[in-house]
Amino acid sequence: MTADSLAPAPEALAATDRARLVHPFLPAAQDKRVVMVEGEGCRLRDAEGRTYLDATAGMWLCQVGHGRAEIAEAAAAQMRRLEYATTFWDFTHDRAVALADRLVRLSRNGQGAAERVHFTSGGSEGVEIALRMARNFHHRRGQTERTWILTRTGSYHGAGYASGEVSDFPCYTTGFGPHPGRVHRLTAPYPYAMGLDPEQITDLLVDELEAAVASIGAHRIAAMIGEPVQALGGMIAPPDDYWPRIAEVLRRHGILLVMDEVVTAFGRVGHWFAADRMGVRPDLTVLSKGLTSGYFPLGAVLMTGRVADVVTGDGGFPVGHTYSGHPTGCAVAMANLDIIEREDLLAAADRTGARLAAELATLRGLPSVGETRQYGLMAAVEIVRDSPTRDPLPEGTYALADEIRDRTGVLVRGGPRALTLAPPLVMSDAEVTEAVAGIAEVLSGFH
Ligand code: PLP
Repeated sequence: MTADSLAPAPEALAATDRARLVHPFLPAAQDKRVVMVEGEGCRLRDAEGRTYLDATAGMWLCQVGHGRAEIAEAAAAQMRRLEYATTFWDFTHDRAVALADRLVRLSRNGQGAAERVHFTSGGSEGVEIALRMARNFHHRRGQTERTWILTRTGSYHGAGYASGEVSDFPCYTTGFGPHPGRVHRLTAPYPYAMGLDPEQITDLLVDELEAAVASIGAHRIAAMIGEPVQALGGMIAPPDDYWPRIAEVLRRHGILLVMDEVVTAFGRVGHWFAADRMGVRPDLTVLSKGLTSGYFPLGAVLMTGRVADVVTGDGGFPVGHTYSGHPTGCAVAMANLDIIEREDLLAAADRTGARLAAELATLRGLPSVGETRQYGLMAAVEIVRDSPTRDPLPEGTYALADEIRDRTGVLVRGGPRALTLAPPLVMSDAEVTEAVAGIAEVLSGFH
């Protein structure tokens, strides 16, 4: 008897789920559940036997595709040998050492030039650590007033106390009473919503940053955090000169740059790190998702030698988590990176991204489509209520994404304004065509 045939019937699973599980962003009264049971490549199958084409790579993380036996075997072998060991104090183990060294070497291929790594269990935890490191860096150097964090509109950095605060999603900051504060939100480049050409934007936003620094006082600002390409905000890539010029202003004022590469690293934009493609050198880089392709929860914070030398001084860096550098997670990450290298998935991201962009462009004539955009293998369809005014749907595109899933079996993600796609880097041309056809089928009857 297979494990599958022992599993409860789909209706029983859904009923127990309704009774027992608290889901993020699902009202308890809602009945529907999609019970996933299997995955292979870009396909998922639910408990009723229906298959889906996964144009979201899970939660934008499954670079190498679902169901890779090689990664499962790496995890099993590691668990048999040493399932867990800590990296607190003077304890360490071979897997964390090997992965930290590999990440530093990968960053040297471009301009990341990180020197040290601190492991976490995921993206939010990484952002918490990076923001603490930034403040700790200044504090240890006597600049104790440098506590403010600059962030941007439309950003998503996680669900923790600080990571939620620097995000721009009201669900993380309303409904909980007073929150930490000391965050200043700058405008993120979003040419379509701003109604501006990309070339007009950087000057405006650099001026805005300079004005914010002057008004808060550089001596009170610890860091600026940003996603190289805003993911949940709607797959929005900045003009080419944006990050280099922002980084120059920050450097001039002694403000650290924290790049949140939770989504953009590990091939998503055709490079190991988006910072390499954009020509910036962050002080701290937060990683997760594609690091293991989601086969194990793992994250990492990369830092320059300058930051590391300060925060690992007297007493060491004073924060840690039980699962930091989890051996099984590190073994899984190594197997995942092996596949990305061996199958040249960095090149695949750009090639498949260009194909996806061309196919999505065919949707542009539809009245609900404001624009389509792509950067690497991140893409979006901007949905509008009214094309001339560029007004978004007031309720966002969440229900539309559900409809595409339910009617066509194509998984895309909803958001405040756009439908977003970030497929596995292994998606074939035929699957790209199928994904766009699913979106077209629903959008052509919309409005
Ligand atoms: N940063 C970015 C850019 C993200 O998209 C996410 C999650 O989607 C996070 C941080 C938080 O990561 P996690 O959900 O692993 O805590």
